[in-house]
Amino acid sequence: MQTMQALAERISRISVSSTMKVAADADKLRREGKDVVDFGAGEPDFPTPQNIKQAAIDAINQNFTKYTNTGGTEELKQAICDSHAKNYGTAYNTKECIVTVGGKHAIFGLTQALLDPGDECIIPVPYWVTYKDVVNFAGGKCVFVDTDENQGFDLKASMVERAITPKTKMIILNSPSNPSGAVFDRAELNKIIAVAKDRGIWVITDECYDRFLYDGEPYSLATPALKDTVIVAGSLSKTYAMTGWRIGFVLGPAAVVAGIGKLQSHSTSNPTSIAQKAAVEALRGPQESVGVMLAEYKKRRDYVIARLKAMPGVTVQVPQGAFYAYPNVSAAYKNGIANSLQFSEKLLAEALVAVVPGEAFGTNEHVRISYATSMKELERGLDRLQHFIAARV
Ligand code: PLP
Repeated sequence: MQTMQALAERISRISVSSTMKVAADADKLRREGKDVVDFGAGEPDFPTPQNIKQAAIDAINQNFTKYTNTGGTEELKQAICDSHAKNYGTAYNTKECIVTVGGKHAIFGLTQALLDPGDECIIPVPYWVTYKDVVNFAGGKCVFVDTDENQGFDLKASMVERAITPKTKMIILNSPSNPSGAVFDRAELNKIIAVAKDRGIWVITDECYDRFLYDGEPYSLATPALKDTVIVAGSLSKTYAMTGWRIGFVLGPAAVVAGIGKLQSHSTSNPTSIAQKAAVEALRGPQESVGVMLAEYKKRRDYVIARLKAMPGVTVQVPQGAFYAYPNVSAAYKNGIANSLQFSEKLLAEALVAVVPGEAFGTNEHVRISYATSMKELERGLDRLQHFIAARV
């Protein structure tokens, strides 16, 4: 009789993404006919713009449905380089660009290509769930740097400098941040990059939310002079409401891009050919939809923050970008609730509101609320949340 073999050790180093788990739990309740309000999903509620969808339909009709180069078509890589140059004044060529299966796979490829076992990676807290797991999967060591919510979760260069050791190989920055919505002070970020350059440390800038900044102009930490230090991990998912199309990218030194290309050649192969055509249209076509979405998110942010601030015991920072609020709800940790996971589970079970527990992002006092959902849903869900909290505080 055959016995079940244990899974490989590397699988035990990672856990299921909590954001995916919340989505699955909420979905299960919905299938049971429950009226769930979902604040868990980190994805735009807007449809993908029509011109982008049409480009995909055209691609199918023109039989653009076969393998492409592993790292994406020249056409799309050029469109990515051109768009980044136009928005941020960078100067990448297509050998310094690889198209990935979403921004998540850009981060995965970077960590697998650059980290050896024991290498340290500095990650500011709160962090996007995936960073921790992909660093662990590579055998690297996460070094977490706490930020202070009373300072708007801002990251100071001194905090990062204190965490640097001879083993530091990488720093991951994500501004605007998921989950806090914080936009880090640019002068501080530049100081961090200067130290990293000096010490030969890679800085990964996760620009997933780069265009969703509520005040001031979007910017990139990458510049032509910093090509050997700063690497961009980008995504079209949020910017163009294209989460399901799975198109992301890396912009960085040609050798790093080639390393990720090797990995991709034995794992995903090329991102979907049809989605690549759609992505070219997203980047080269009209950009108005991005501004429309941003204006709507700003309205929703103002509403959500005003509502949260009015709830007893709840404190919250005003997000400066992305589309998440990250309130501190720890005042309600009583009567069978001792942490953010239990808070989220009870909130879903009793009030049918799905949020993501802060422990997924490295803090236990908070929950993440995505406001990439309609005003009507926000109203309904926040009414329920208020009731749930008021009964405990
Ligand atoms: N980076 C951050 C900070 C994110 O929040 C996400 C998605 O939630 C991603 C990267 C990856 O997005 P995708 O794989 O859909 O491009």
